[in-house]
Amino acid sequence: MCSIKQNLEQVTSQIDSAAQKCGRDASGVQLLAVSKTKPIEAIADAVEAGHTLFGENYVQEGVEKITHFNVIHPNLEWHFIGPIQSNKTRSIAEHFDWVHSIDRSKIAQRLSDQRPDESAPLQVLIQVNTSGEISKSGTGFEEVKTLADEIDALPNLTLRGLMCIPQPEDDHQKQLEAFAPLSALFEEMKVGRPQFNTLSMGMSGDMDAAIASGSTMVRIGTAIFGARDYSNRK
Ligand SMILES: *Cc1c(COP(=O)(O)O)cnc(C)c1O
Repeated sequence: MCSIKQNLEQVTSQIDSAAQKCGRDASGVQLLAVSKTKPIEAIADAVEAGHTLFGENYVQEGVEKITHFNVIHPNLEWHFIGPIQSNKTRSIAEHFDWVHSIDRSKIAQRLSDQRPDESAPLQVLIQVNTSGEISKSGTGFEEVKTLADEIDALPNLTLRGLMCIPQPEDDHQKQLEAFAPLSALFEEMKVGRPQFNTLSMGMSGDMDAAIASGSTMVRIGTAIFGARDYSNRK
């Protein structure tokens, strides 16, 4: 039984119906399969089912997977979505295609400096802290535009949009409220930035609300690959 293939179909149809419910075209919502902690075999099942977009949170684990798949599947697109320590930027710049979690200018500067000349510009999103004091990750709303201007000036990065990870919340209405400010900022910042077209919001537990709020890329792990086991992480 290939349950990953079935899960991908299930999530895809959930995206379709969530989009339909709010009058959006489902083709405007990309599915990023979050494969952190999952083995090569699980990703291979998803690739076999035709999936090409993968998200990873841990640098070393992600690089090992990218190196493995590059030989046979160079067409896959790899997104780094985890917190970034400045001593890990080189590996990210050398291996990933996208980064969702830029939250300060030092990290942006290092990623641009360390991006190899022969690679396409790294496609990046600014991670915004939408949960205020309860969250430590992401840049504050007041600083987003300054950081965007800094990224726009860097030669090896292309700013594609915004990302957030709200506090987990079961209530659909509260999920909508958590996404609303970022959607508004996204719409505002799009003006004059032709490549700024990606709003990365929504995980397994809040995907429908994210789509209703204008997400263009949902990051789904558990609903595709099953629950994660962190006990054997290196
Ligand atoms: C783990 C993770 C996800 C996927 O979460 P699920 O709840 O398993 O779908 C999405 N985004 C980020 C940033 C993550 O770290």
